[in-house]
Amino acid sequence: MKHTLRPLLAAALLACGLHAQAQSTPDPLVWDLTPVYASDEAWDTARKAAIAELPELAKLKGTLGRDAASLRKGLDRLSTAYQRLEKLWVYAYGLQSTDNRLQRNQERTGLMGQLAGEFGAATAWVDPEIQALGAKKVAAFQKADAGLAKHAVRLRHILRLQPHTLGAEAEAAIAALSPVRSATGQARTLLVDVDMRWPSVQIDGKDVKIDDTSYGRWRQHPDRAVRKQVFDSFFSSLGQFENTFGVTLGTAVQDNVVMAKLRKHPSAVAASLAADEVPESVYRSLVAETRKGLPTLHRYFKLRQKMLALPDLHYYDIYPALVKRDTSYPIDEAKRLALAATAPLGSHYQTELKRVLGERAMHVLPAEGKSGGAYQMGVYGLTPLVFLNHHDDYDSVSTLVHEWGHGMHTVLANQNQPFETASYPLFLAEIAAITNEVLLSKHMLTQAKSKEEKLYLLGHELERLRGTYFRQTMFAEFELRTHDAVQAGESLSGKRMTEIYCGLLKDYHGDAQGVMKIDPQYCQEWAFIPHFYRGFYVYQYATSMAAAQFFADRIVAAGSDTKVRETYLDVLRAGGSKAPVESLKAAGLDMNSAAPYQAVIQRMDAIIDEMEALLASQ
Ligand SMILES: [Zn+2]
Repeated sequence: MKHTLRPLLAAALLACGLHAQAQSTPDPLVWDLTPVYASDEAWDTARKAAIAELPELAKLKGTLGRDAASLRKGLDRLSTAYQRLEKLWVYAYGLQSTDNRLQRNQERTGLMGQLAGEFGAATAWVDPEIQALGAKKVAAFQKADAGLAKHAVRLRHILRLQPHTLGAEAEAAIAALSPVRSATGQARTLLVDVDMRWPSVQIDGKDVKIDDTSYGRWRQHPDRAVRKQVFDSFFSSLGQFENTFGVTLGTAVQDNVVMAKLRKHPSAVAASLAADEVPESVYRSLVAETRKGLPTLHRYFKLRQKMLALPDLHYYDIYPALVKRDTSYPIDEAKRLALAATAPLGSHYQTELKRVLGERAMHVLPAEGKSGGAYQMGVYGLTPLVFLNHHDDYDSVSTLVHEWGHGMHTVLANQNQPFETASYPLFLAEIAAITNEVLLSKHMLTQAKSKEEKLYLLGHELERLRGTYFRQTMFAEFELRTHDAVQAGESLSGKRMTEIYCGLLKDYHGDAQGVMKIDPQYCQEWAFIPHFYRGFYVYQYATSMAAAQFFADRIVAAGSDTKVRETYLDVLRAGGSKAPVESLKAAGLDMNSAAPYQAVIQRMDAIIDEMEALLASQ
């Protein structure tokens, strides 16, 4: 579940030039990047043009305050440059994630890391210069020149962040260091996807390599002994690099703490949330309310133990489906279900989704050297790209529906916003994706023909509530703890992170209450979570789960009354033009209150009640 993120900047400039990529026969399951750049040469030409433009951008320094027209011209120019940079990134990042082994793919992201740093350094003066103009002068310029309207949101953010912006020289220095600062995430990616030698285990008579991608599949195996073997193999591989992961993640945490301090934020979490104008109280409410709901999570685990007929419960018993089901969902069937499930979102949504699903916009199948997981990314004005590792199972259908939730958010925002406000805040991003997942569950439940199918789907929904709500909140707490430790002057080694993680695993899974035994060898799991390299990102899965449950329930309940649906779609169409917490409030949802989190926990209790009733009636 990684997405929409502006890709992590690459480590460093890797040597030598770029080579032409051989054109292969079009494959409907492999995305077509030619709308982004027709060839590697075209990409490189655009990159060189972007480098050549940097001195021109730097020359704008000192001109923004002259008059309204100069401010508009400067901002327009920067906007165009930023748009090109984003396009260059999408191409480079897309290619690397489809095959991390190829040196030219690594080179491209390396070159982009370099360029992003240089771009940042060449334009670091912009925010301080606008802040020096002051709110009054900026407002007068906006009144005088209608062309500044599309930059209004950016101007507001720049002025809002004034207390946390340093002088031009310091900002330039920080920007120039960006490729160095992002090397930790890149090092983790290369270690996990390329350098690590993953062992094979025997499953159903075959040798199966348990790596970053296949682990997700095999941990669901119905045979407990196989699951244990998969867990032992996977986590012992990660555990061998505890110190290395300790340095990569520990440094990323330290970077967040240092940056927050430099920018005069009270804490790293406050600094991160400030970017989207999310109050820290939202984060704290989420963690506090989730902690209160742990008995419901433990109730689910007990039901799981009963349904799987296990004498006790271990961490490797979380993933197998509660009800055995062999239905296969090849990609075309997954696409059909995505359309059927999102019917409540109306005809425009349907038409657009059908259109994008018909294009070669997805990288569908797993492959050697390909990154794990799934993501969506977009270039303004083009069909969004969706990256998958489709396994023909129901989870893969959920993932496709999720990623196209992001994709359709991108489509709707692009159709209704100029480039400057099209890109939506991360706080909203997961809502669009998870609402679609909830809609899929609802659709599948109405279609369920047997008690078994119903139990399977309810079980799957419980799993999503565990994985997207409780687990992500546990991650969010891990981030709070690790950042707190560094803020308190503690040194954060891999071993220390394992200790912190172990404590949280035990709390959330009811180790002390005898619900689930947490074996210490699985406490290395933190090393497996790439999202930790985007500080304070994952809490948004949990807040989004709560918001998605709220919206999907109301949209479906409203039936032919389209008002509710349009209120929700307005949030998507607004892109980045409004502050997210306010935007949700306008749609009837207060993320600061306990209510949305309690609603998730109530839904979970209701599912458990329903499943227990179904089981009792057998
Ligand atoms: Zn997502």
